[in-house]
Amino acid sequence: MTILAIDFETANERRDSACAVGLAWIEGNRVVRRESRLIRPPELRFAPGNIRVHGILPADVRGEPEFPAVMAEFLADLEGGLILAHNAPFDLGVLRAGLAAYGLPVPAFSYLCTLQIARQVFPDPAGCGLGKVAARLGIRFEHHDAGEDAYACAEIALAAVQETGAEDVAGLPRVLPLRVTTLPAGPDLPRWRPPGREGLGGRAAFVARRGRQAEDEIRFAIRGSTGNRYEVALEERPFGLYLRCTCMAGRNRRRCRHVDAMVDGDVTDLVSTNLADVERLRRLIASAPAGHRVEPERVRRVQAA
Ligand SMILES: [Zn+2]
Repeated sequence: MTILAIDFETANERRDSACAVGLAWIEGNRVVRRESRLIRPPELRFAPGNIRVHGILPADVRGEPEFPAVMAEFLADLEGGLILAHNAPFDLGVLRAGLAAYGLPVPAFSYLCTLQIARQVFPDPAGCGLGKVAARLGIRFEHHDAGEDAYACAEIALAAVQETGAEDVAGLPRVLPLRVTTLPAGPDLPRWRPPGREGLGGRAAFVARRGRQAEDEIRFAIRGSTGNRYEVALEERPFGLYLRCTCMAGRNRRRCRHVDAMVDGDVTDLVSTNLADVERLRRLIASAPAGHRVEPERVRRVQAA
């Protein structure tokens, strides 16, 4: 089986705005191939915050191929392989959204998240962000270059193999409380074209955009352990952000595993297909003020991880 790490950079807050991809292949417990490509996103709108992270400008990608052309080269490996990514829901979300934006079929993908792996094998109060883990492990790389980030992600998985005595990366779930997650085949997002490229579908696209104005709302459908379906919704309360769950524990205002899963970015039991919201939630949590961390009434509040 092909094992490869992937990392995307995006132009703006949209998951279908990939502007760079990096990949690193693992064979025989070492990185054997590295690739990185620039991608022209569907619209050349770059958010300042995103530019600050990766330094890629519209002019850098204007003449580059678009997502389908870039990914065609790698799709067979990704489809049949085991994908590694650091905070995988984000990168897998970009992969799926990128395909769906061009009306392409979204195949099932199987992945392991190296953030989850790092939290188990290399825990540290300073956190397990890619840069921090790589620094602790002495992995030298240029953070926020997609190719370099994919390489660092692969090296973190390999360091975990060494540390745990697993046979290889695919064997990590046998030695850690960890599961390979397989996202079902899509399509899971409506086809979307940027303004000006809508053609005859313009009106439909307009209606579709209107329908997304409730986009700020974050709401997940979760499969419970007994097969029941629960809903976890983000609410703004006077004391800060709050995740409400419709399960019995949630209704009794106790923290529950469904909320915990969403806070951790664990999409194993996610039934709804809004992977991009998992990443949005992660960002909200990361930016939550430290004063919002602990609360008396055992309500699970969104808190800095
Ligand atoms: Zn619950």
